[in-house]
Parts: sequence; C-alpha cells; structure tokens
Amino acid sequence: SRMMKSEPLELSPRRSAGVSFAASLSYNGIRHHFGSKQVLNGIDLVAEPGGILCLLGPSGSGKTTLLRIAAGIERQTDGRLYLNEQEIAGPDVFLPPEQRGVGLMFQDYALFPHMTLAENVAFGLTGLSSRAQKEAAGTALERVGLSARASQYPHMLSGGEQQRVALARALAPRPSVLLMDEPFSGLDSRLKDTVRSDTLQILRETRATAIVVTHDAEEAMRMADRIALLRDGRLVQVGTAGDLYRRPADLFAAGFFSELN
Ligand code: ADP
Repeated sequence: SRMMKSEPLELSPRRSAGVSFAASLSYNGIRHHFGSKQVLNGIDLVAEPGGILCLLGPSGSGKTTLLRIAAGIERQTDGRLYLNEQEIAGPDVFLPPEQRGVGLMFQDYALFPHMTLAENVAFGLTGLSSRAQKEAAGTALERVGLSARASQYPHMLSGGEQQRVALARALAPRPSVLLMDEPFSGLDSRLKDTVRSDTLQILRETRATAIVVTHDAEEAMRMADRIALLRDGRLVQVGTAGDLYRRPADLFAAGFFSELN
C-alpha cells in the first residue's frame, strides 16, 4: 500500500532536551502517593525504543498515574524517570511536560469542532513557522490516510476517522514517546478492531515508542510488544503476551487472561 512505501517523517527541528524520535523511557523505583494513599509502590519498568508497552490492570491499579508521571503532569513522590539516559524527573530534577517531547492521546481525544482537520493537527505545533506547521500537519494527516480531507471539519468524519486525526495530532510534533490512555474506549466494539489495527500499523510505520494504558487483556494481547500487568500499584508481571498467557506469574495474572481463548 501507499502507506507502507512512504518514507519516515523528517525529524522535527524542534528537539526536546536533545532527545530524538523513539526514545526509551525508564521508570526507576517509582513510588507515588496521594495524601496518605500509596498508589505506586516501587515501579521498575522500561519502555523500549520503538516498542509498544501496554500498562494493563484493573481500575485503580495505577496505570493512569504512571502515564501522567511520564507526561510530567504528575510528579512522583519518589524514584527517577529517564528518557534515554537523561533523568527527566527525580528528587532534584523536573523537566516540565513541554520540554519532554512526549505526546499524549487521552480517551477524550476531542477535536476542536470549529477547526479543520489540518488546523486541529497543527494546533499543538508550537515553535514552528506557520509554513512548517502546515507541512508537519500535512505529513501527519497523510500518515493516517486522511490528507485528502485536510480542509474538512471533524463532524464530517466517522468516529474511527476522528480517532485517526487525533493520532495524527499526537504524532505531528514527532514525540519521542507517545502516551495513550485507553485510546479506543470511546469507540463501539464494531469499530474498535479496525481502528486498533490501523493505529498499530501507524505506530509501526512511524517507529514510535508507545505506552498504552488499557484494562482490557485482549487489547493488550493484540497491541503490545510487552505487557506490564499492575495490581494495587505494583507490577505483577512484565513480559510478552505469550509469557503472560502461558506462564502467568500468579493466580491474579492467570485470572486476567482466563476469559481469552
Ligand atoms: P488506573 O488508571 O489503573 O485506573 P489510577 O492511576 O487512575 O488507576 O489511580 C490509582 C489510584 O490513585 C486510585 O485508587 C485512584 O483513586 C487514586 N488517584 C488517582 N488520582 C488521584 C488524585 N488526583 N487524588 C487522589 N487519588 C487519586
């Protein structure tokens, strides 16, 4: 297909703290509490460059907090966070979100209704000339197969197409790590499979490092290179889908995958 043959995106002139596309992100002894409530209890975990890491676990297990710590929206109580070799958050260091070069895509990926798709995608591209913004937005829309519709408005698109625009918007600044929180939860089940496989293909083609939060074991199995299974702020098991499915670390892990076949 056309998308398979296209060249990798040019690196944006805007680099974040010297980090290039597809970085590794490492959590090192991360603890976090809200008031007296301990929600992360010593997390050691690496998102490999260009890989898709799924954070899987039941509601309240700490997945979103781990994502927010990576984004710099939340500062961990203890432990260190590294982007490649660079410490970006720790007891003495805190790089603000806009300097981390991480992209965010949350479940409420709402597009601005009064802006065209191109304008929506260009919106987050600060620090670029308007010409460079247009180019980057155009490239990102092409990447998700929607460049012909750049001047249309969100309401003219299906839910799945809107989700692809949101992905284009997240990828346009060339984030070193893309963080996705339950990215498909807003889609009906009929659409979900298609959008998910489209997203997977786009992530592969852009060679993005991605951390994807989900509570759905099947979704993690389909998407992840590696799955980190969480329970009550602790890692139960980290491994490939095959590892977790065939050799679950404990009854909790086994239970999580037991409904799958
Ligand atoms: P998950 O994404 O796995 O559902 P979260 O990371 O959202 O889990 O939440 C982990 C725990 O932290 C939950 O018990 C949640 O209630 C609590 N929590 C999350 N954010 C806050 C906050 N801002 N203040 C207090 N408690 C919070």
